[in-house]
Amino acid sequence: MVEKVINRYVSRATIRPSASCQVQKAVSTYYFKSPYVGSCTREAQKRLRKLVQRYCINMKIKLAFSSFKVDSMFSVKDPVPLDLHSRVVYKFLCAGCNVCYIGETSRHLSTRVREHLSRDRNSHVYQHLQQSQVCRCLANKNCFSIVDCAPNKLQLM
Ligand SMILES: [Zn+2]
Repeated sequence: MVEKVINRYVSRATIRPSASCQVQKAVSTYYFKSPYVGSCTREAQKRLRKLVQRYCINMKIKLAFSSFKVDSMFSVKDPVPLDLHSRVVYKFLCAGCNVCYIGETSRHLSTRVREHLSRDRNSHVYQHLQQSQVCRCLANKNCFSIVDCAPNKLQLM
C-alpha cells in the first residue's frame, strides 16, 4: 500500500510540471497606450519589441498610440501672481529675528499681508512688529510665503 501511494504521488508530481510548463508557454499579451510624438515613437516601439522578445519569452506587447493636443502640455492661462492666490496657508518669517508665524486666509494673500503689516491690531504679526523697531523696518511682503493652497474653503479649515 505504501508503495502504491508513493507511486501515485510520483506520477502526479511528474505530470504537474509538464502541465505547468504548457501553461507557462502560453504567451501573454499586454497592451500599452502611448502618445504619438512622430517618427521617434515608431523607433521606440521597435526597440521595446526587441527588448521584450529578448528578455520576456512568454510576453507579447501591443502598443496603441493616442493623439494629444499641444495645449494639453502647456497651460494656456497666465499664472496667477503669488500675492493674488486665495485660500492659502501662509508663513511669515520675520527678517529681523526669524520668528515664524503660520496663518491661513480665504481672501487674496496680498490683502491679508497688508493687514498684518499695517492695521490689524489683533494680528500676531502686527503685534510682533510693534514690539521691535528692527523687525518693523525689515518687514515687507517678501517675508510672507505660501505653504499650501486649498481647492475650496472647507479644505482650508
Ligand atoms: Zn522679529
